[in-house]
Amino acid sequence: MKKRRILFITFLLLLIFTMPVMAASTKKIKKGQKKLTVTAGRQYIIKVKNAKSVKWTAKKTSKYQITKKGVLKAKKPGTATLSYKVGSKKYKIRLVIKKKSSSSGSGSSGNPANTNSDTVYWTPGGEVYHSTARCPSLARSKTILSGSLSSCPKNRACKNCH
Ligand SMILES: [Zn+2]
Repeated sequence: MKKRRILFITFLLLLIFTMPVMAASTKKIKKGQKKLTVTAGRQYIIKVKNAKSVKWTAKKTSKYQITKKGVLKAKKPGTATLSYKVGSKKYKIRLVIKKKSSSSGSGSSGNPANTNSDTVYWTPGGEVYHSTARCPSLARSKTILSGSLSSCPKNRACKNCH
């Protein structure tokens, strides 16, 4: 009987340790920051810079969930206002939950074939790569090549657009 119980506990522990852990990324905000943008479907640990003993107002809605310790689960796109306290001072921050993929189309890219954010631009004679073909440094270039960052022969990023 005792042996079975140990086996059972071992089994439980195994279950706990093998459960998929949702990777949380840390978001640092400044005290009194107005807005925080996160992505739906992700988990974050929100930290307030230079602040000890931060207490968040725990809340659970269909769009998000936040604990007292600032562990935020962004579930669905939308906006909300989060409250927290540093010492006795209260702060509020606007939470913006964005869709997981950028397919919602912000219309910022001029080239629909290259909506991938990894796409970089460079000139054959240039020393650096650019994040946009509309970079001022490229204004006088006749030949602008583009491709993924890994296929780009340049090692340095342009200071104007990066
Ligand atoms: Zn540039």
